[in-house]
Parts: sequence; structure tokens; C-alpha cells
Amino acid sequence: MSTEKKEIVVLGAGVIGLQTALTLLEFGYSVTIIANYWPGDDHIEYTSPKYHWRTHAGPDDPQGRRFDKETYEHWLELVKKDEDTGLVLIPEIYIWDHPTPEIANSGASIWWSTLVPDFVPLTHPHPLLPATAHFGISYKSFCLNPQKYLAYLLSRNADHGVKTHTHEVDSLTDVFEYVPEAVGVVNCTGLGAIDLVDPVEAEKLFPTRGQTILVRGEAEMARLRIGEGYIAYVIRRPGEGTILGGCKVDGDWNAEVDKELSKKIVERCKILAPELLVDGEFEVISEQVGRRPSRKGGPRIEVEWKEAEGRRRFICHHYGHSGAG
Ligand SMILES: Cc1cc2nc3c(=O)[nH]c(=O)nc-3n(C[C@H](O)[C@H](O)[C@H](O)COP(=O)(O)OP(=O)(O)OC[C@H]3O[C@@H](n4cnc5c(N)ncnc54)[C@H](O)[C@@H]3O)c2cc1C
Repeated sequence: MSTEKKEIVVLGAGVIGLQTALTLLEFGYSVTIIANYWPGDDHIEYTSPKYHWRTHAGPDDPQGRRFDKETYEHWLELVKKDEDTGLVLIPEIYIWDHPTPEIANSGASIWWSTLVPDFVPLTHPHPLLPATAHFGISYKSFCLNPQKYLAYLLSRNADHGVKTHTHEVDSLTDVFEYVPEAVGVVNCTGLGAIDLVDPVEAEKLFPTRGQTILVRGEAEMARLRIGEGYIAYVIRRPGEGTILGGCKVDGDWNAEVDKELSKKIVERCKILAPELLVDGEFEVISEQVGRRPSRKGGPRIEVEWKEAEGRRRFICHHYGHSGAG
């Protein structure tokens, strides 16, 4: 039996590609990552530098719940053994302005109430619950500095001998020109998949626009508020400041900062993070726009087989993680 390691290409160096490559390396494969954007780059077509642990999975999304649970448990282990991850486990407050089915039974039906440490329902009167809010919870969640986390993942890949190439490919099978010995490719191209998959699949992909503001100072805790027609959040970015957000607009490709929206974000967040205000205002460092890579029907994790460069090879799709990368 051959002892040579099988070679696999991972296309994409976002959080999905870097973690996929690392897992394959840990399972004993030889891996080459090909991507046009890398940790350290800042580009609208590269989503991963924009993002904390917050589950978006509802009761009818068992796959999303499994991914979010595994991520949370993986990070709990990671922060115990590695220092340079960019991750911190800190208190988070989650506030609802109106009743929803999710928060019936004083939050007991929230699926992740048994996953996260220190889960406590907040009811009036409570110093952490704004007067106009309906209900809240506090628990411990992860905030991260995404650029640091991506750099950490890349360095873990390097420790395992990953090979890297910077290229923009025009088709998924192009990767086999660069790495002819590869038995297959994992397609982790986020929204970039729109130009690489067949037209029926491409039609399912769309951006969900987000806009955030980086401000000076690190918030004592993360806070997230679901209001009438908006979400507002304050997320510590360790070593850099605090992110204020946000918005989620499906199908919006606008890459420019919407100044009116920025003003609303600032006003909504003032009540959430008063400890960061200097003379009543935040000290703004930067404003940014990101595109969550969304897909009708949820993420595509699927294998197909293709003849490429004279050999049958697998193409494993792993994209479309939207706001839950
Ligand atoms: C404002 C905002 C807030 C968010 N908040 C959260 C949150 O709290 N929690 C959470 O879990 N998620 C959050 N997300 C979502 C998360 O950021 C994404 O789901 C995740 O980053 C997607 O990662 P990815 O690796 O699939 O894509 P990307 O990070 O976009 O990476 C794609 C990679 O593929 C490469 N690529 C694409 N096309 C090609 C090509 N043709 N040739 C070569 N390379 C190519 C790119 O160069 C890049 O390296 C948020 C997103 C935004 C915008």
C-alpha cells in the first residue's frame, strides 16, 4: 500500500477555507490552498475579516445548530491551549424589544441556553435591561479579532506544512493545472462561488450586506439588541477596539458606507455601550461594509465528480455560510 499522502486543493483562504485546510492536514492529507485574498488583506470580496460567535440557527435548522455548537465547543478548547487566537470569552447581553416565540418561557426554549456558560434570563427591573426593552439574557460568548484569528489559522496550517498559491481562478478545475497531483478540490470561495458554479447554483447566491463602525476602547461586554426593524450590536474586537453594528440587507451589493445608516448605528449603540463614550460620543476609527455570502436553502456542502486534466477528481462545495461563517 502507498504511504504517499493524498494531495487536496482548498480554494479560498477565508475562515471556511483555512479551517477546512487545517482539518484536512490534521487528518494526514497534503494540502495546497489557492486564493486571491489572504489574512491581512482588506477587500469587499473577502468577507472573513468582518466577523463573533452568535448563532443564527433557528429551531428548524438542525445543521446550523450543529455547526454553531461545534464551533462554540471547539473555541472553548482553543482558548485554553493557545494564546494567539484573537478570541476572548466574555459576558454578552442579548436584548429583545418585543416578544418572539424564541423567548417564550423566559428564554427556556432558546436552544443554546444549555450550551453557553452562565446563561441567565433578564427581566425588569434590571440594570442591564433598557427601560423600553421587553426581555433579555446574559451568558458568556466569544468575541474575536478576525484578522488575528485568520492569521492564527494560517500559521497553524503553516505548522503542518501547507502550500499556498496566490491566484484568481476562472473555473474550479483550473486548480488542477497548478496542482496536477491533487485528487480533488474543496470549494471555499464564499460569494466568489457565484462565478465558478453552474448557472442554476449561481442563481441561489446573493450578498447580505452588513455595515459596521470600529470605535476606540474595548467594551466591557458584548451586547446585541433586536429592535423593531433593526439589529444593534456592540462587539469587542480584542486588541483593536469595539465594533458597532449593524444591518442585514439581502441582495444589496452596495460597497459604499451609508452615512445615514452609520448615524443610526451610533445612536442605537450609545445606550448599549455608554462606557465607550467620550463627551457623549464614540471615537470612530473606521467604517466598513461587508457582504455575508448567503445562499437560498443554506450552505452548500456537497460533493460532485468531474473529469479534469485526464483524471476523475472530486469537487467538494463548502460555501454559502451567510452570517454564520
Ligand atoms: C458585518 C458582518 C458581520 C458578521 N458577523 C458574523 C458573526 O457574528 N458570526 C459569524 O459566524 N459570521 C458572521 N459574519 C459572516 C462571516 O463573516 C462569513 O460567513 C464568513 O467570513 C465567510 O467565510 P468564507 O471563507 O466562506 O468567505 P470569504 O471570507 O469571503 O473567503 C473567500 C475566499 O475565497 C477566495 N476566492 C473567491 N473566489 C476566488 C477565485 N475565483 N479564485 C481564487 N480565490 C477565490 C477569496 O480570495 C477568499 O480567500 C459576518 C459577516 C459580516 C459581513
